[in-house]
This record gives sequence, C-alpha cells and structure tokens, in this order.
Amino acid sequence: MYIPREFKLFNQTIKVVYSRTLMDKEGFFAKWDYNKNKVILQQSTRKRPLTKEQIEGNLIHEATHAFLNMIGHDELSQDEVFVSSLSGLIHQFIMQVH
Ligand SMILES: [Zn+2]
Repeated sequence: MYIPREFKLFNQTIKVVYSRTLMDKEGFFAKWDYNKNKVILQQSTRKRPLTKEQIEGNLIHEATHAFLNMIGHDELSQDEVFVSSLSGLIHQFIMQVH
C-alpha cells in the first residue's frame, strides 16, 4: 500500500507528516489532528521499529477518524472501539484490492 504525503477528503487536503517523538510525548504511534488537518505517523522508536503493515494500519485508522469528522459524526470519531473495528476492516479490504 502507498502512503501518500497528503490526500483529499471532500475539499480538504489532509497532510501526512512524521514524528519521532509522538510515542514518547503522547503514548501512541499515530494521531489525527482535526484542527490542523493532518495525520501524524511515527515509523519507529529506538526499541521498536514498526512494520510496514502496522504503519499502513495506523494511517487507515487515523484516516477513519478523519472520515467520520468530515461526514459530521464527531461522536463516532471519538469512539476508539468503533474506529478500530471499522478501520481494521477497511485495511483488510484495501490489502485485497490495491
Ligand atoms: Zn484512534
């Protein structure tokens, strides 16, 4: 799967940026920043490099948060169980069709 530097949802451009300190600072490997329209991904730590599939899964997870915000379902976007289930299924689907 291709990880873009940015993607469009409706008329909004979402940037994909990388951090080396997200896990240390916030405790997770990826983040959807709603206010800045960007997805932040961390690719590795000194102790733990992430696999390509994990990074792809994280992008799809954060994009799923963005999808839900874009269609006006902010409450669903905050439901991590819902987002994880749906994004896992989207990831499985994309791996079969790309
Ligand atoms: Zn999430």
